[in-house]
Amino acid sequence: MKLLVSLKDLGTYAKNTWCPGCGNFGIERAAKTAFAELINEGVVNREDIVVVAGIGCHDKIVDYINLNSFRSLHGRAITVATGIKIANPRLQVVVFVGDGDAYGEGLEHLVFAAKRNIGIKVIVHDNRVYGLTTGQYTPTSPKGFPGRSTPKGSVEDPLNPVKLLLASGASFVARGYSARPDHLKGLIKQAIMHRGFAVIDVLQPCVTFFDTYKYYNARVYDLQEAGHDYTSYEAAMRKAEEWNYGVDDSGRIPIGIFYKAEKPTYEETILKGKNLLSREPPSIKEALRP
Ligand code: SF4
Repeated sequence: MKLLVSLKDLGTYAKNTWCPGCGNFGIERAAKTAFAELINEGVVNREDIVVVAGIGCHDKIVDYINLNSFRSLHGRAITVATGIKIANPRLQVVVFVGDGDAYGEGLEHLVFAAKRNIGIKVIVHDNRVYGLTTGQYTPTSPKGFPGRSTPKGSVEDPLNPVKLLLASGASFVARGYSARPDHLKGLIKQAIMHRGFAVIDVLQPCVTFFDTYKYYNARVYDLQEAGHDYTSYEAAMRKAEEWNYGVDDSGRIPIGIFYKAEKPTYEETILKGKNLLSREPPSIKEALRP
């Protein structure tokens, strides 16, 4: 009889050192629940899941989830995940990265993963601050953000990653909120079931350096409840522009799936003719054979 996996089974003995109230807890809960449900529903095998992290407060998540894992370098998590996926396309590779990791140091890797449509899933812990290094501004920090490296306030406009990823050709783009873990769990499940590259920008308050709970709670709304058509690229771009990562605007913040499309994956294209779902990964020689 197949054993059911519980959240406890997916836990570890590691002591959790996130600040009490940190949004990372909501992401961890949502991810673990999504993994447990997908395993129990027979959608994925537990041994086929690999979680990869970059460097930052978020990276401790690989210590707290009892699955195959790889903690990589700052800004390089997506390159490691890409290598794992090409070496064995049968694996479900889920990447946890911070906003500094994904939209700063690792931005070029993220853009290329999106344009290639490689079948990895990227979950961005977007707290809009470098928490681990005690509060410097990141690409998504709002203009005027008084971080450690910008004591008089950042003079830059923030990056809108949803717009950037849509423009980069990502075939699944969503935004979640760590304080809505049930909603986020649903997004993670859909991202994992999507064939191809998927990215979820998760709004994650950092209670120590940038506490955004009140701001987000007053503004978030569910795109799907509002009837958004995620098959329309134009509608997705319009929704992406509804909120530009500012702090002093009065607009609402859409969460949910902005865009979803079917297209050939990178691994299907470069490994054409190989059995992508084989238990045995192709050897390097076989994978590179024309
Ligand atoms: Fe979370 Fe911020 Fe604390 Fe890091 S510094 S654990 S992001 S609250």
